[in-house]
Amino acid sequence: MLRIGGIASFSTVDWPGKLACVAFLAGCPWRCPYCQNAALQSAEAGTLNEGDLFALLDARRGLLDGVVFSGGEPLAQAGVIEAMRRAREMGFEVGLHTCGAFPERLREALPFLDWVGLDVKAPWDKYDQVTRGVASGDAARACLEMLFEAGVGLEARTTWHPALLSPDDIATIGHELAARGVRTWAVQAYRAAGTTGELPDETVYPSDVPADLPALFEHYEFRRA
Ligand code: SF4
Repeated sequence: MLRIGGIASFSTVDWPGKLACVAFLAGCPWRCPYCQNAALQSAEAGTLNEGDLFALLDARRGLLDGVVFSGGEPLAQAGVIEAMRRAREMGFEVGLHTCGAFPERLREALPFLDWVGLDVKAPWDKYDQVTRGVASGDAARACLEMLFEAGVGLEARTTWHPALLSPDDIATIGHELAARGVRTWAVQAYRAAGTTGELPDETVYPSDVPADLPALFEHYEFRRA
């Protein structure tokens, strides 16, 4: 049974260009200090299940383009693959927000995915400093390579808090993504809402990203709350 912490019935921002509902699945192996869904990190979190999700989808046929599986880290639960298959079968497009912690499960999900928002949290060699995971950069890089090879619609996303990433780190990430052929990159300014409050509520950013980076992408966006 899927453990779901919440379901947003309508969203226009979680999958750019689509009207989608969003299911926030419980569980994540990483502990990023800026996590906005810290309450969903535990695998035991969540009081809803796939019955709630599919009841909503059933009532929204023809009204929604798709469903986004978000979290937490949705691929932490094996049952998400069957839920994706079922949503597709009902005629919904399927999107995924993932941190890239589970490359093998992502491979299983690929046949059912129309679009993925993949977190790219740091230069590969600094990844564990942000995620507090082990070899987390290797996993995320494997996911990026897999998605790119599969040709799934992809938005790479980087959350920026100046205490975690310097402008040079941002430049390293941007150049790495562009070199790998990623066309869509969003840099998201840290937001304190929903976090554990571990980081200072930083509101001063060094005026967007280094100037040469946006032109490397077909779609680039700096998102502030
Ligand atoms: S990977 Fe995502 S869900 Fe997991 S701790 Fe980091 S920000 Fe939170």
